[in-house]
Amino acid sequence: MKNVRVRYAPSPTGHLHIGNARTALFNYLFAKRHKGSFVVRIEDTDTLRNVEGGLESQLKYLKWLGIDWDESIDQEGEYGPYRQLERLDIYKKYAQQLLDQGLAYKCYCTEEELEAEREELIKLGKDKLHYSRKCYHLKEDKELPYVLRFKVPDDTTYTFNDVVKGEVTFHSEDVGDWVLMKRNGIPTYNFACVVDDHLMKISHVLRGEDHITNTPKQMMVYRAFGWDAPTFGHMTLIVNENNKKLSKRDQSIIQYIEQYQELGYLPDALFNFIALLGWSPDSKKEILNKQQLIQLFDEKRLSTSPAKFDKEKLAFINNRYIKKLHTDELIELCMPHLVEADIAQERDMNWIEQLVSMFQDRLSYGAEIVELYDEFFNQSFKLNHEMKEFLDQEGVNNTLKVFRDLIEGWQEFTEENIKLLIKATQKISEAKGKMLYMPLRIATTAQMHGPDLPKALALLGKHTVLERVEENIK
Ligand code: GLU
Repeated sequence: MKNVRVRYAPSPTGHLHIGNARTALFNYLFAKRHKGSFVVRIEDTDTLRNVEGGLESQLKYLKWLGIDWDESIDQEGEYGPYRQLERLDIYKKYAQQLLDQGLAYKCYCTEEELEAEREELIKLGKDKLHYSRKCYHLKEDKELPYVLRFKVPDDTTYTFNDVVKGEVTFHSEDVGDWVLMKRNGIPTYNFACVVDDHLMKISHVLRGEDHITNTPKQMMVYRAFGWDAPTFGHMTLIVNENNKKLSKRDQSIIQYIEQYQELGYLPDALFNFIALLGWSPDSKKEILNKQQLIQLFDEKRLSTSPAKFDKEKLAFINNRYIKKLHTDELIELCMPHLVEADIAQERDMNWIEQLVSMFQDRLSYGAEIVELYDEFFNQSFKLNHEMKEFLDQEGVNNTLKVFRDLIEGWQEFTEENIKLLIKATQKISEAKGKMLYMPLRIATTAQMHGPDLPKALALLGKHTVLERVEENIK
């Protein structure tokens, strides 16, 4: 493969969105897989849409995800500057070249005039947006503000072999003379992007499908300058569970990386999950770390159908990573949520450790510890039919009584002691295995499956356990 140089080109118009993070991530994997370079270029020419702090936040969360770059604004390489507003002289020079060659022209029309003309053309059945180019024929340079338009060639087709979509063709008739430089001397995205991709020696452009209609415009510029275009790949959209394109307003899915961090998702898990959004390895394996993903990444396996955002899969993957955490990492993940919910106050570290360890295997994300805590400690005690049936079995009442009597006489209600109490209950009541553990579990936690019982009971405390057992004795 040719010397791979790819770029992720965020516009600082907001926070890091899951769709953009995916674009960055696939470019990153592709670069690393081919020992190439990954460039982050800031496309900030749409000055009205830029938001304060957007850029810093996007870079921060890319790093948090584990996506780092070889060249960008904070890591200058040979091809800087890496922020488009600092490259205005460069665009000016290339725009002038197109003007001199008669491939672009100054357009003095106001929006109203253009609109009137557009309507006129539509009436004439020429709805393909070719203006009369009346400005093009103006000889004198008026002092009026103007935009620079690209003079779209007639009867030309633009074909490229898309990494994802295969052969794609556009016709010049479908593209009107488009703006290269705005009145304020700032280039449009389509122009700046080409100049930069060329000067930065970008070999492959992997981006979202929403950009595919920009590609013919960009190819026009490559041809006008006689430059080779990079290889393009347009990734399919991300859709929600109803197969609807993920819109930023969609409340059913959390969409910003920052929010995932706040909720206690792990960056490695999110990296793993995002890598599977529209891509899959040859094997059906789903838990893959960064190094494995780099080794396995094959752009030919980018999906040709939309990538479904599967929330359950995200929970599953994050849970798998949480299970592997050391206790102190787990505490760090859960602590902010326990503090916020007023659970951690007046508890010692030992108690916190016991709590989080008890739920480690069940947690899908850090903040969920609060829900699990609430369910466990504060649930209004409701047994379902199956549980009631279990407790109705012969001998169960006796087992509960034995257990209650033993607890009552015991002072120190620790995990170790509870183990001994359960053993003693077994001896006295002669209940074994499931007939021993299940009644105790149901009576104290209103669950048939759950965390390790002695651990759970130690956390609940003697008072609550006694109360709950008592309630279930007939
Ligand atoms: N600035 C564009 C965006 O944020 C980048 C498009 C491209 O990759 O060419 O969508």
